[in-house]
Amino acid sequence: MSILSSEWTALLYLAAAVCFILALKGLSSPRTARRGNLIGAAGALIAVVTVFLSVKLENIPLILVAIAVGSAIATPIARRVQMTQMPQLVALFNGVGGGAAALVAVLELGHNTDPWFRLAVVFTMLIGAVSFAGSAVTVAKLQELITTRPVVFPGMRWIMSLAVIAVLVAGGFVIATGSAGWAIALLVLGLIAGLLLVLPVGGADVPIVISLLNAFTGLAVAASGLVLGNVLLVVAGTLVGASGTILTRAMASAMGRGVSGIMFGAFRGGSTAGSTVQSDRPVRSSSAEDVAVLLGYAQRVVIVPGYGLAVAQGQHTIAELATALEARGIGVDFAIHPVAGRMPGHMNVLLAEANVPYESLKEMAEVNPEFKNTDVTLVVGANDVVNPAAKTSPGSPIYGMPILEVGHSNQVVFLKRSMRPGFAGIENELLFDPKTTLLFGDAKDSLGKVLGAVKAL
Ligand code: NDP
Repeated sequence: MSILSSEWTALLYLAAAVCFILALKGLSSPRTARRGNLIGAAGALIAVVTVFLSVKLENIPLILVAIAVGSAIATPIARRVQMTQMPQLVALFNGVGGGAAALVAVLELGHNTDPWFRLAVVFTMLIGAVSFAGSAVTVAKLQELITTRPVVFPGMRWIMSLAVIAVLVAGGFVIATGSAGWAIALLVLGLIAGLLLVLPVGGADVPIVISLLNAFTGLAVAASGLVLGNVLLVVAGTLVGASGTILTRAMASAMGRGVSGIMFGAFRGGSTAGSTVQSDRPVRSSSAEDVAVLLGYAQRVVIVPGYGLAVAQGQHTIAELATALEARGIGVDFAIHPVAGRMPGHMNVLLAEANVPYESLKEMAEVNPEFKNTDVTLVVGANDVVNPAAKTSPGSPIYGMPILEVGHSNQVVFLKRSMRPGFAGIENELLFDPKTTLLFGDAKDSLGKVLGAVKAL
């Protein structure tokens, strides 16, 4: 028996949709992201409760058991995950969403013979299966369960073309006959297509593909809303599809690459996973005390945080160092590159955790003209985002990516553990520049030593 009238159901769905839109708005800034997340979760809760109260459901105990099992698995994973593993977690949850949409569509196939309905079923099954298999590959790559490099084998293009033809044939038969056998074949072909689409993507491009697959899942969910006649699924799926597409484009342009180059670059030899050779050319290295003197007697310091800061969990120490320098009358800013770290907004989240004021965080376009007036730039666990090869080496995998132009400042200090390259696997000429000094060691340890020495000045 349904408890809610159709008017109340529509009103509650509207409230949930408004929550989703407000959630996206909130997530657009680190200051409001936490609130946005909670509003989105509240919207999802309203949506689920409304379904229970408005639809004549069968198998309620089974549904409740499925919800309990899903929550019992997901909650500890989400609580324990390291910040640096967030992209894989997003990919995992996203893939499961796509898979669920595909399964729902298979089950609904027999409920209607209308060809447009069957078209929506085919679309949901196909995109959902692609998203599920593709996301599984991205998780395996980022967890290093399989190689992070692009996987390409001879004849792969032909197999891809055959898969596309087979998908069209199977999809056509499902629409024409509604046959469960063809539907299963389409599902399997969707899984194969997902594998073939993501295997050739490697290195730094994987998180961009996660965002693209996220958009795919949104579209699959929107189509499943058509299949189930549920307007909220259409709205929510469209929001995810649109925001995922915008994020994909923003990430690709922050890396100076096109989305098609990312998906099919490996076939043209444009992979981003370069060599990982360690250079033995001489560099100028220094002690924490010397770095403290450089910083402590500067007028203006810019700090560039990168992936290594997140690994070392040095955010609190770096915030303390900035405060100590400011107490000496030194102007300190943090320069944030849009793809620093391993996920969009990684550095903003990291520094927000250490209560670094938002006003101190400067975007790339804002800070780049200021480097020429900067006495010391302190690069902490960052590499690719300051690598001049992006501008000077046309053959380099990061060529075309806008960078933080730290080379324009008077002095550059790198905090890193070794001469190993960054994510793109390429050497950074700036490390060998006469104005550059290196302080080797774990970023948190080094920052702690520099902080102690600055306080002792
Ligand atoms: P990089 O990966 O280029 O460099 C990280 C540096 O940190 C390395 O030089 C490493 O050197 C150092 N490091 C690692 N651990 C520590 C530690 N504990 N203490 C001190 N140093 C450490 O990072 P960037 O942030 O500069 O660039 C991000 C890269 O990730 C870009 O290539 C970007 O394209 C890619 N990417 C970003 C995504 C995003 O959305 N943000 C998504 C996907 C990829 P060493 O080992 O010698 O210490």
